Amino acid sequence: MRVVFAGGGVIALLTALKCVSTGHEVVIADQADIPFSGATSFDRHRVLRALHADDPATTAAAVAAHHAWIDLEHLLSTPFYEQVGALTALPAHAATAARELLTAAGSKAEVLGADELAAEFPHAGFVPGTGAIFESHAGVLLADRVLTACATRLRWHAKAELHPHRKVAGIDADRAEVRLADGETLRGDAVLVAAGPWSRDLLAPALSRELVLHRQTMLYCDVPPADAAAWAATPAITSLGSDGGAWLVPPVAGTPLKLSAASACRMVDEIGGATVPSWWREHLIDTFSTLIPGFRRDWLVDTRDCHYLARRSTLGPMLAVLGDRVLTYAACGGSSFKFAPLIARSLAARLTGADPVPTGLEPLDRPLARAAGVHPIRPALRGVS
Ligand SMILES: Cc1cc2nc3c(=O)[nH]c(=O)nc-3n(C[C@H](O)[C@H](O)[C@H](O)COP(=O)(O)OP(=O)(O)OC[C@H]3O[C@@H](n4cnc5c(N)ncnc54)[C@H](O)[C@@H]3O)c2cc1C
Repeated sequence: MRVVFAGGGVIALLTALKCVSTGHEVVIADQADIPFSGATSFDRHRVLRALHADDPATTAAAVAAHHAWIDLEHLLSTPFYEQVGALTALPAHAATAARELLTAAGSKAEVLGADELAAEFPHAGFVPGTGAIFESHAGVLLADRVLTACATRLRWHAKAELHPHRKVAGIDADRAEVRLADGETLRGDAVLVAAGPWSRDLLAPALSRELVLHRQTMLYCDVPPADAAAWAATPAITSLGSDGGAWLVPPVAGTPLKLSAASACRMVDEIGGATVPSWWREHLIDTFSTLIPGFRRDWLVDTRDCHYLARRSTLGPMLAVLGDRVLTYAACGGSSFKFAPLIARSLAARLTGADPVPTGLEPLDRPLARAAGVHPIRPALRGVS
């Protein structure tokens, strides 16, 4: 089969790799470079941890994702998974429940009391008195390296065609055709629309209204040389235990320390640039000045805003069937990067007519179907005459 992709982020690239590995042809069109530094996937890091509190299925899926990334590293012969583990601040009873959940899912976890946490990670900025759960089967994916490795593998693959700087203007879901802004049409046997935060532009109003755009600010820092060794031995921290949901990614593999918080994420109407408005930069500087001992604004080396979509009703990703073998996957903020190998396996099977691959991830195993009445197919797709 010939599968056409609208978009070349982590979802499209990994799905395309899966398709070529089973003998299919792929054609990828992106509005910019492949990979594109402005895509949601393109950052220094993305965190992979297994814990999804009170959710055994998603926790088990995240454990499977951990193993899938290790396999992918070998397949692409590129080191991009720094298994530094992950720490999440939790009260003692919740940490114990989390350890049981993780152990049942086949992962490894350790409960750290407040004193132990403060003694081991005094530099990290945990709220005093909080304990944590430590996951060893977790860490940091070097996202930009992942994308470059996938794109390079596909660029030289006999069954792959990459079309950078070819913007998609419309999709014909009945004919599995992708209409490019320059007037050309890419025909396939199947199509995946994986246009990240831009997905709404290519979808019918009934679907695009389901998706809410979010924008989040991040700070990138150089840590003082005296603290460098301590930071280098720090796991990813998905919660410091603060009210605003502060989190951080340690400076692994020569990357800067990355700081952000749930409180720096807001809903917006349109995609703006990556430039950070000063109010949001100052908000994060204030947040981390009260958390990280000795934190100063002159640690900052960069700032960036990043966008993502989430489904209005679930706050998660959305998979919708637009036509026979035409799918759209609009990824969500918190977790679609880490799940990308599982998402790719499932999407590739659906697109190529292979047996469905269960993932344990609700939106993938139960996509929005035509029958759901959300999509009157062709006439409602923008850009299709
Ligand atoms: C601040 C932040 C932190 C995050 N942290 C994590 C994390 O720690 N762990 C995790 O698992 N996930 C995380 N995520 C989520 C994850 O990064 C995203 O869900 C994922 O990267 C989305 O990938 P994608 O391929 O769907 O979209 P993208 O990477 O945005 O790719 C979409 C591509 O489509 C192209 N495109 C768009 N429109 C068109 C068009 N009309 N024609 C042609 N091409 C087009 C774009 O140029 C782009 O290259 C985070 C997200 C944010 C914003």
